[in-house]
Amino acid sequence: MPQPSCRRCGTCCIKGGPSLHREDLPLVEEGRIRVQDLVCIRSGEMAYDPRRGGLQSVPRELVKIRGKGASWECVCYDRASSQCRIYAARPAECRALSCTDPAALYAVMEHPYATRFDLVPADSALGQCIAGHESLFPVLPALNLALEWVRSSAGPVPEELMDMVRGELHFRRAFAERVGSRDEDLWIYFGRPLWQVLAPTVPALEGYGTG
Ligand code: SF4
Ligand code: SF4
Repeated sequence: MPQPSCRRCGTCCIKGGPSLHREDLPLVEEGRIRVQDLVCIRSGEMAYDPRRGGLQSVPRELVKIRGKGASWECVCYDRASSQCRIYAARPAECRALSCTDPAALYAVMEHPYATRFDLVPADSALGQCIAGHESLFPVLPALNLALEWVRSSAGPVPEELMDMVRGELHFRRAFAERVGSRDEDLWIYFGRPLWQVLAPTVPALEGYGTG
């Protein structure tokens, strides 16, 4: 809801929150955007690119304001009042967005993107957990395995893929328990659960880790 001409219909906020750029980092550092309201879109995940009008596999990780549960509706959007609850601290993409002229948004999208390691020092204990998770459970091989299975359209989900999904879920649950946090509040560090990332490709995984 950034431009004076904005009718505050909320459509853009309901479609999804913005990705953060380095210029947005002070908003997080000052606590104006909460860390638990962020999610990492890990390298290889599919994300909507308005410039191409479709889903693209992201070549490098992104930090976004997360959705509400499984939906992408921006967690900062309050439907009851049709308002952004961080309006004064909304990120650059939201400030630039005009649904009648996307040029300013596209210009901001050329600015350097924020990553997890802008928020967490790589040599800290948490930074090493992030790197360990990434090397054990990268998205791209799992997604390729899922796509290969879809192409062959045969039989049950391959055990190799299920091993990755189970192992990743175990990792994040163990970490959340150790630090006394909800998994969702850690999505900035480990992204969304692998089962959730893969579910649009492998519908059998829908709701897998919610039980
Ligand atoms: S920018 Fe456009 S889509 Fe977004 S809330 Fe305003 S009028 Fe609606
Ligand atoms: S941060 Fe605010 S303006 Fe931006 S998408 Fe979310 S609710 Fe909308």
